[in-house]
Amino acid sequence: MAAVQNITVLGATGSIGVSTLDVISRHPERYRVLALSAHGQLEKLLAQCQVHRPRYAVLAEPGRLVEFKLMLASAGLTGIEVLAGMEALEYIASHPEADAVMAAIVGAAGMRPTLAAARAGKRVLLANKETLVMAGGLFMDAAREGGATLLPIDSEHNAIYQCLPQPFSDTAGQGVRKILLTASGGPFRCASAEELAVVTPAQAVKHPNWSMGRKISVDSASLMNKGLEVIEARWLFDLPPERISVVVHPQSVIHSMVEYVDGSVLAQLGNPDMRTPIAYGLAWPERIDAGVSPLDLFQIARLDFEAPDLSRFPCLALAFEALRMGGAAPAVLNAANEVAVAAFLDEQLGFTAIAQLNAASLQAVAADFDARSLDSLVAADAAARRHAQGWLRDHAH
Ligand code: NDP
Ligand code: MG
Repeated sequence: MAAVQNITVLGATGSIGVSTLDVISRHPERYRVLALSAHGQLEKLLAQCQVHRPRYAVLAEPGRLVEFKLMLASAGLTGIEVLAGMEALEYIASHPEADAVMAAIVGAAGMRPTLAAARAGKRVLLANKETLVMAGGLFMDAAREGGATLLPIDSEHNAIYQCLPQPFSDTAGQGVRKILLTASGGPFRCASAEELAVVTPAQAVKHPNWSMGRKISVDSASLMNKGLEVIEARWLFDLPPERISVVVHPQSVIHSMVEYVDGSVLAQLGNPDMRTPIAYGLAWPERIDAGVSPLDLFQIARLDFEAPDLSRFPCLALAFEALRMGGAAPAVLNAANEVAVAAFLDEQLGFTAIAQLNAASLQAVAADFDARSLDSLVAADAAARRHAQGWLRDHAH
């Protein structure tokens, strides 16, 4: 077998980061942790350093650098270099000795280090969907030019990747008609419009099938997550929005499907556990044990499908709208949504107002920016956040 691979885990203390370290620890003969990054959860990062002994531990911001160095010292841990800030994140993402980079920082903050990994030609395990939503065109160009191998970790895109012919080009008569992204429908799939208006953050983050970070859990409840995934799929698989459909499938057993011109539909199934796509990304084109229990079809018994209700879940329609608008519109939608979700989690904004804020920012800001440069996209992101904050001041309860 090949030499042990060095892995950088960006966002190690998050839900995906923890699952990634779980898979890595099952295969010490294949993987070694080169670097870990965290933002606020220093105790958790310390515990991870104790187990995995990385060469680098990186904090997103420098404010607590000294504190963390002291924590390592008092735990008797030596030989770990502690760094902080965006440049340090980019450094561990593009480090010459990193074989693969798990991009699992949440939100727009993950974009620059993910881009750095792509430019450096790494095997990029892409969980941070916001990079593709904000800067899909630039990111795909960077990956191509850098010679990076992109492996989608988002379960739907990982499923599609598994069901597409490889290498996938779509120009070579490979017969793909469309992709079918499945959506669980989230915790409010059956809620009425009136009920949706009064749901609480605690209810929104309680996903029926998946255990995830708080931000993506709220996005799953509003179907914004599925909208972001449509944008993600448009870039990853280079397909126009009219060839991407969303199918609500409450059991979350089929993770997505590919429909071919001959009528075949290929699906990838499995228990809803992110360690499956993570293990796939780590080992591709091989397969390794992920610690996931086998799918028990008899216990599941049935698989249901329904169309998404865009009137109760307008965030999904907004994502298609942003794709139609093009340019920086997806970046604007993403930034506005980050502000809206944070305000909702902070009980400053009602659940149904998330879509209202997103729509208002999209209309007010998107046309002012293009997607030709990172600077323009970063400016669009900032303008959308300013607009969203203003909207919040005018509308918050
Ligand atoms: P979590 O919120 O659980 O974890 C986020 C990670 O990013 C943590 O390590 C956190 O550090 C770090 N972080 C937070 N803010 C910043 C910042 N400003 N700068 C640098 N690092 C930061 O998120 P998830 O693991 O759920 O999601 C990670 C990404 O993966 C997201 O883009 C999400 O959309 C995507 N994804 C997640 C899925 C899931 O099942 N969870 C499924 C599909 C995609 P700390 O905790 O130390 O503060
Ligand atoms: Mg997903």
